[in-house]
Amino acid sequence: MATTPDVENRESRGGHFDAAEREQSVRSKTAGSRSRFERSRASLAGGVSTGLRRSAHPYPLFFSRGEGSQIVDVDENPYLDYTLAWGPLILGHNPPEVTRAIGRQLANGTTFGAQHDLEYEVAERLIEAIPCADLVCYANSGTEIVQVALRLARAVTGRTQYLKFEGHYHGWDDSVLLSYHPSLEEIERAQGRAVPTGAGQRPDGGAVIAEWNNRESVEQAFAAHGAELSAVICEPLLANSGSIPPAPGFLEFLRQVTSENGALLIFDEVITGFRLAYGGAQERYGITPDLATFAKAVGAGTPLSALAGQRRYMDAIASGRVVHAGTLNGNPLSLAAAKAGLDVLRSKGAAGYEHLRRRAETLREGLERILRSHGFTVCTCGDGPVFTLSFAAAPPHNYRDTLAALRDLYRDFALALLDEGVLVLPDGRWYVSFAHSDSDIDQTLAAVSRAAH
Ligand code: PLP
Repeated sequence: MATTPDVENRESRGGHFDAAEREQSVRSKTAGSRSRFERSRASLAGGVSTGLRRSAHPYPLFFSRGEGSQIVDVDENPYLDYTLAWGPLILGHNPPEVTRAIGRQLANGTTFGAQHDLEYEVAERLIEAIPCADLVCYANSGTEIVQVALRLARAVTGRTQYLKFEGHYHGWDDSVLLSYHPSLEEIERAQGRAVPTGAGQRPDGGAVIAEWNNRESVEQAFAAHGAELSAVICEPLLANSGSIPPAPGFLEFLRQVTSENGALLIFDEVITGFRLAYGGAQERYGITPDLATFAKAVGAGTPLSALAGQRRYMDAIASGRVVHAGTLNGNPLSLAAAKAGLDVLRSKGAAGYEHLRRRAETLREGLERILRSHGFTVCTCGDGPVFTLSFAAAPPHNYRDTLAALRDLYRDFALALLDEGVLVLPDGRWYVSFAHSDSDIDQTLAAVSRAAH
């Protein structure tokens, strides 16, 4: 079990990031955001459209436009953007091919509630790209499409439960928002049961919880509940908690244990899809799941998600035995964006993805080098264009290890970077897009040097 952050890492705090001065500076140049946030809070619950944005420090910024690797706030401050809108903007902001395609579609209508050519044109591209895809279906968000996948798994196996891993995120539905970021106390109190993340959730949603990269915990779960497990779902790279890759052989093990026990293997590729490789984590790691869910990058910044799967399972959706519905599913605006975005991504080829990976590695190595040279104990973990920087002694192996990182120090670092014109996510995750240039990386590292001085 991980020790608590303050015990393990007290000696690792190298310096500090002038948090008070940085906050004052950020506040002084973002007055427009501050007043808008006050106004917004009077009408919009919490002043934000999704709970996770509430944690922005010192307050959520308001933005007016984005172009390539840059985003500009309402006070005209430009930032190099490593949030990519929490992932979707793999091509950066406002990629011209996607913007043009949306514009063309806009002139013909935003939604039909009926069939159109883009539906099969995008489906054909997805099948070509994704190893497990014989058939696909659409929804609008990652949360929805995970529900389709889990329902399908229950239908084809006749079983009611599923296995998920601690720290993995599969959307905000009651059935999956479980043991997402529990504290050590919550884990201990739950004694192996799933921990709901917020108030009002039904207690366990049918989830059996195991530890990422821990074969024994999966074997124990199958020994205790195997006859009831319809599926194992995972983020094949644990992006939502420390960007932790699968340990060597772990995905192979999941493939084998699910096959042997008659459960489906579901890769939640909402983050890894079209990011780790054009064919996602399943291409990158060479393991083909039964089903896989996609969102974020697949829609190039529009609301689109997709389930891809083997025909013998997807046929249950094709026949209507498993209900899959949604008024805006497959809407032509999102699919126009997806078609254009996928064509750009496909044209990058393996060489383009390799280039993206190398650029992200240059950034990652530079961050570690500079922060260490200023006495900070820091590490990174991830795979190519998604990685997490933590003020911790060693990269995490599973969710509990991530609790050892100094989160308050990362918050100060992120604030100093914001003041230096670099926008990062609050949880330590960095996303690099195809729009980031070598000179963006150089500028970012220079900003890091100033932040850490
Ligand atoms: N699955 C994963 C791996 C995610 O990271 C997310 C969102 O971040 C989701 C599912 C839910 O997607 P959405 O926010 O589109 O509902």
